[in-house]
Amino acid sequence: MKDYYEILGVGRNASINDIKKAYRKLARKYHPDLNPGDKTAEQRFKEINEAHETLKDPEKKKQYDLYGSLGAHGPGPGAGGPGRGGDFEGFDFNSSGSSTFGDIFETIFGNMGEPRARSGRRPGGRRGPEPGEDLHYSMNLSFMDAANGIETTIQVSHRQPCAACKGKGIDAASKQSTCPACGGRGRVQKQSGFMKFGSVCPNCGGSGVLPGAPCRACGGDGRVETTSRLRVRIPAGVDNDSKVRIAGKGNAGRDGGPAGDLIITVRVAPHKVFRRSGHDLEMTLPVTYAEAALGAKIEIPTLEGSALFKVPPGTACGQRLRLKGKGIINPKTRENGDLYVEIRIVPPSTKDLKVRELLKEIERVAPYDPREELRR
Ligand SMILES: [Zn+2]
Ligand SMILES: [Zn+2]
Repeated sequence: MKDYYEILGVGRNASINDIKKAYRKLARKYHPDLNPGDKTAEQRFKEINEAHETLKDPEKKKQYDLYGSLGAHGPGPGAGGPGRGGDFEGFDFNSSGSSTFGDIFETIFGNMGEPRARSGRRPGGRRGPEPGEDLHYSMNLSFMDAANGIETTIQVSHRQPCAACKGKGIDAASKQSTCPACGGRGRVQKQSGFMKFGSVCPNCGGSGVLPGAPCRACGGDGRVETTSRLRVRIPAGVDNDSKVRIAGKGNAGRDGGPAGDLIITVRVAPHKVFRRSGHDLEMTLPVTYAEAALGAKIEIPTLEGSALFKVPPGTACGQRLRLKGKGIINPKTRENGDLYVEIRIVPPSTKDLKVRELLKEIERVAPYDPREELRR
């Protein structure tokens, strides 16, 4: 059996203060940071920590003094084990002069395939704060609502803290029990090759006790599926498949962790007049033969309502005219795109004989060759 007093080089009647002092001195000396690649130092460092872990705690020290390091006689119920991840509790990181202490802890224990208490998720067991999950939601928008933005109420289903157990996940009426894996010590002895070392009990996360039965209302999760009505604002200018993030409205976190976000993917319906090209808009404007030839002022729809659009005289079919700033706002730059109006000439009906004669008259009076370009 290991002698923790011998490992720390202190007498059996050393005070907690003396033990801590001895521990700090030795931890600094055998710190893996200062002894890279030295397996003996590494082993020593582990033993020092193991010894300190037991002797710094008056209750554990008493148990150790009575039964030794591996006695199954852990602290009785209610005695309270060390806190989660308490391996290096009490070590003053700053006075050690090493800022990488935490990293080394991760490296040493992470590389040995140790089941780490922190990541082990037992329902209702001790664990660190965990952030809530992001949730995804799809929203159908009309073309105009996407272009102009909208504030609306949506109904979402997300996990919120359970009222029955106050988010703890444990049935308040049930009792705690001593962890059978470690006998309540919170630590277990592990063999890794030739090395033997103590580590946090993966079954109870180092607390030495197993919490009571999982809460029946939430199954131990600490959260229950809740339907909420949320007021959300979709900014002007969103496009099909744009994502809008509503902070903190996803699932609630666990153990005080932050809530996840609600991510809304918008689906934008097509418009009967406007087509979208980035933040520009396009539309086709049918005009009469006379309007195209003579020019005209025509009422057209825009995002802000109807506007008077000027067709210049002699406008050809297929010509694209630009209305600056009448497109969709870009939510990032706060600048508007443009509206492109494509002219389409609709010929007059020629059922009437008089119409046909008048058109021929125009050809006679002002003959022109529209295909000059093709012969060059
Ligand atoms: Zn609950
Ligand atoms: Zn245990």
